[in-house]
Order: sequence, then structure tokens, then C-alpha cells
Amino acid sequence: MKSKSSDNLQDLQYFGEYGGINPSISDSSTYTFLSAKKMFDTFEGNTEGCYLYSRHSSPSNLYLGEALAALEGTETANVTASGMGAITAVILQLCNANEHIVSSRTIYGGTYAFLKNFLKKFNIGTSFVDITDLEAVEKAITPKTKMIYCESVSNPLLEVADIKALSTLAKKHGLPLVVDNTFSPLSITPAKLGADIVIHSLTKFINGSSDCVAGVVCGSKEFCLALKDVNNGAGMLLGSTLDSLRAASILKNMRTIHIRVKKHSENAQYLAENFEKDGLRIVYPGLKSHKGHQKLKRFMNHEFGYGGLLTMDVGTLEKANALMELMQERKLGYLAVSLGFYKTLFSAPGTSTSSEIPLEEQKEMGLTDGLVRFSIGLDNDIHRTYTLMRECLVALDILKSNSAMV
Ligand code: PLP
Repeated sequence: MKSKSSDNLQDLQYFGEYGGINPSISDSSTYTFLSAKKMFDTFEGNTEGCYLYSRHSSPSNLYLGEALAALEGTETANVTASGMGAITAVILQLCNANEHIVSSRTIYGGTYAFLKNFLKKFNIGTSFVDITDLEAVEKAITPKTKMIYCESVSNPLLEVADIKALSTLAKKHGLPLVVDNTFSPLSITPAKLGADIVIHSLTKFINGSSDCVAGVVCGSKEFCLALKDVNNGAGMLLGSTLDSLRAASILKNMRTIHIRVKKHSENAQYLAENFEKDGLRIVYPGLKSHKGHQKLKRFMNHEFGYGGLLTMDVGTLEKANALMELMQERKLGYLAVSLGFYKTLFSAPGTSTSSEIPLEEQKEMGLTDGLVRFSIGLDNDIHRTYTLMRECLVALDILKSNSAMV
């Protein structure tokens, strides 16, 4: 029967080595062969199902990769030791020296720094564009361009990329569209909308327990095998390999992702609507006032909502810092970067996760000093959270007690 769901996670079923309902964890860096010839063939990539060395692949990493391919609806997936491990491997696999990339200008600060600074070593240039302006994206493409890169919902401004339209554009120019879907697992399925490669920082919602760093590249068998190639694969040769024990624990955490994403979205939607009514400057893709709301509504998987991230502009960095400190003191969450945790996490991106972006560029893209990014937690009583957060906002004179923003 054809699944109505946006993903195939429900069909995953495992049998461990001894019939266990969790797959056994592969606790070896290397694997034996009964024949030297078979080892040689495996090295050459000709023996499917044989393991050679765990930097290349391991059973635990393959299990997790399989689950992530089911999540994103791609042929296969390679897991990596971090989100940046996935991003850098993909970029270096697709681009040679002296080539060019077109990227959204609002992306995670680490990715921005890699594209803007690190790739200078190879004379690979990046044009950073407003990804919601398709004309600007097309204009930036040159004969040297090798890929279009964006985040489905961008960090930290929560801009929504029109993946369908970008994919049509990419195909017209024979380019792969690479999408980082870290902010919107399950809510958006980029591969179904035409993305060629989908990346996640598993560190965030997918693992959901903020206890490790990991990443994934979801794509075609051809591309994922190329990443693992012993002679030319950026995954294999740069060596960003996830440890088997971590792969096994992420796989177990992943089993609740559908429930968690729904709750993160429900809570974020509640807070966004109420704070907007209070007169605060809120950006949340689930609000009608969001520039990308209608677009996202057309292509999202509705049952999962608009995601767990929202931003609030409180005017100045001083107010932002005071708010975050007070919220932490009142046990409303942690003043911490990252996202997808069961408690709410908050940070001021201009001075943390986006600090790699020069101030003038931050200004140009609308990243203001007073912006606070919230990754809304799984709080059971979100109305109580709203009331307590409101008390913090009133105590700091960001909000008047009768609701208007000061
Ligand atoms: N992509 C996005 C959207 C992120 O927010 C981050 C980290 O914050 C990354 C990628 C990098 O992931 P990692 O920290 O797992 O390397």
C-alpha cells in the first residue's frame, strides 16, 4: 500500500544479530576477510555488503543512513561526524579549484565562513544572494558555477526557500541543488520538491537530545558512493566519520522525531501567535505575516507544522542579553546556541552563531542586534510558558503589562 505519509520511517524494522529488536552495534574499526581477493575487490568497491574499515562504512552507520534516507525520501544517505562534516564534504565533492557556487546569503555562520573564507584556498568563489529572489539567483550563475546551495528555512532569519522553483532553475542550468534541511525535518521534504542533495546537522532536531554532534548527506546512490570512494571521495578522504556508538544512539532517538517535531511546532506556533498579538516583532513561518508563509503552506507537510524556531526582535543587544539571562534564571530554558532540545534554547545570532558574517552584511540581510533566536522546547503546558516569558518581557520593559511593545 502506498504510504500517505511524507516519509517512510514507519516501515523501518530491525533484527539484531541475536534477534534483538535493536540492531547490534558494530564495535570494530576493521573487518576480516577469509580471502585476500575478496578484500581487494572490496577495496575497489566491487563487493556490496562487505565491510572493510569503519571510516568507509560500518553496519551501525549504514542503519542510521537507511533511516535518514527513509526520512528524506532519497535513495540512500551517508552519515558524518558533524553537520559541517556533511556540508564541507558535499561542497568539495562537487567543486574543483577555480569554480563557483551560488548560495543563499542567510545561512548558518559556519557554512558562510567555509564558503567565504576557507574556499579561497582553492580559489572557489561564492555569490551570496537573496534566495527568495529567483531572478537574482539566476543572474548570479556563471559558466563556472557548480551548485546552488540554500537552507530550506534559513538560520537565523527563517527565510523560506522555494525549493521547487530553485530546483527548476538548477535543472535548467544543469546544476545540483543542495539543501540544508536542519531547521525543518519532516515539515519539509526537499528531495520530493526537486533538491538533489539534502543535508542535516543531526546535532539538532533529529537527535533531539543535544548530547552529540553529527550530520548526514542524503542523495542518490551514485553521489553517496562517490563520497565514499577510496581514491576521490571527500567523505572517505576528509575523514569526518561518525562513531558507531553514536550512530546507534541517534537511531534510537530518531524514533520519536515525528512526535517531537509536532510538539515543537505546536508550542512555537502558540507562542508566535500570542507574542505577535502582544505587539512584539516576531518572525515565525507559521504566521500569516511571514513573507514565506503562503509559499510554505503550498509545499510543506502540514501534519508537522511550521517548525520549532522563531525569532523576536527586542530592539537592542542589551535588552536581548538581559531577556535571555532572566529567562534562564527563571528556568524557561538555556542561554545556549544549537536547537532541537526538549528545553527552549535561546541565543542572539548576531553575536554567536552568525558572528562569522561581517556586521555590514548582517545589517544588509536584516540581522539586527536585538534579534533573539528561540528553539522552542517540548513544554507540556505552553500557556504557562507564555505567561512566564511575558513576565520577563514586562520586567525588562520590553512589553507593557497591558500588552503593547514599549
Ligand atoms: N546547518 C545549520 C542550519 C546549522 O544551524 C548548523 C549548526 O548550527 C550546521 C549546519 C552545522 O552543524 P554541526 O554543528 O552539526 O556541524
